[in-house]
Amino acid sequence: MIKDNLETVRESIPSGVLLVAVSKTKPVDDLMEAYEAGQRVFGENHALEMRDKHEALPNDIDWHFIGHLQTNKIKYIIPFVRLIHSIDTFNLLQAVNKEAVKNNRVVDCLLQFHVAEEETKFGLSLEEAEEILNSDVFKELKNVRICGIMGMATNTDNQVQIRKEFHHLKEIFGTLKQKYFTDCEYFKEISMGMSHDYRLAIEEGSTMVRVGSMIFGARNYNV
Ligand SMILES: *Cc1c(COP(=O)(O)O)cnc(C)c1O
Repeated sequence: MIKDNLETVRESIPSGVLLVAVSKTKPVDDLMEAYEAGQRVFGENHALEMRDKHEALPNDIDWHFIGHLQTNKIKYIIPFVRLIHSIDTFNLLQAVNKEAVKNNRVVDCLLQFHVAEEETKFGLSLEEAEEILNSDVFKELKNVRICGIMGMATNTDNQVQIRKEFHHLKEIFGTLKQKYFTDCEYFKEISMGMSHDYRLAIEEGSTMVRVGSMIFGARNYNV
């Protein structure tokens, strides 16, 4: 079933867009089924869960961290994480850099923006991001590389609103690209779109979609 779901999702995604299979809460066997169907990019939102799955599964998997990251958990993922989508404070970015130094790595990160209506969602405003990017402290961070931005739309059926929020993210990306990253070919990612809205996100310029339940089925948080 996972294999069929994956194929369905893949068929709906253009070749320039990366599919991150969001496997949070799902058992290793489910991830292995996706792996055997060719999937190599997985997204998780808990540091210890991601570390454990990384240890249990083949080592040619790219692990993307997509959830709210607590600074005391950073150390569990820095040795192997491929991309952190969810940098939502300057403090977190500095802590990631510090741990990356210890691991002698440069860790790729995205800045997460708050564009949804819900207060519950994490993320920076454009002003907060610019404050980071303009600061002297930021310019000294040599072990993190900002590769783009990430965001989530409001959880609603209102397609007009979702599209507007994705469009807003795309505008933020354009602003940052022009002001801070013109000569940086690596600043190119817009991580937006989940199971229920990834098609809209792609139409609005997404380069990475994070799809979970449409591949692995509904999550049961009580188990
Ligand atoms: C869980 C999660 C997803 C995937 O959600 P689905 O609706 O299952 O596709 C994507 N992005 C983030 C940040 C998530 O936490």
